[in-house]
Amino acid sequence: MLFSFIDPFVLFSKTHCCKLCGSIVSPITTSTTSVSSKKVVTCRSCETSKGIELIAVPYVFRYLTSELISMNIRLNLTIK
Ligand SMILES: [Zn+2]
Repeated sequence: MLFSFIDPFVLFSKTHCCKLCGSIVSPITTSTTSVSSKKVVTCRSCETSKGIELIAVPYVFRYLTSELISMNIRLNLTIK
């Protein structure tokens, strides 16, 4: 009954994922120019922004992914 009081959207985190390589740690946000405030998300592995999607994942999954990366284990997600 404890979870009935918690908003389920609080448990999830929005993150960018690259559909081409399946990584949620490779996409980075950069500004198009130093003057403009427009942000572009680009995958560092693929060096393109073509396959970037915004997905909702549990925050603990993002944490697990970053911990695995520190042990040189990479997760690949398949997004449909
Ligand atoms: Zn990629």
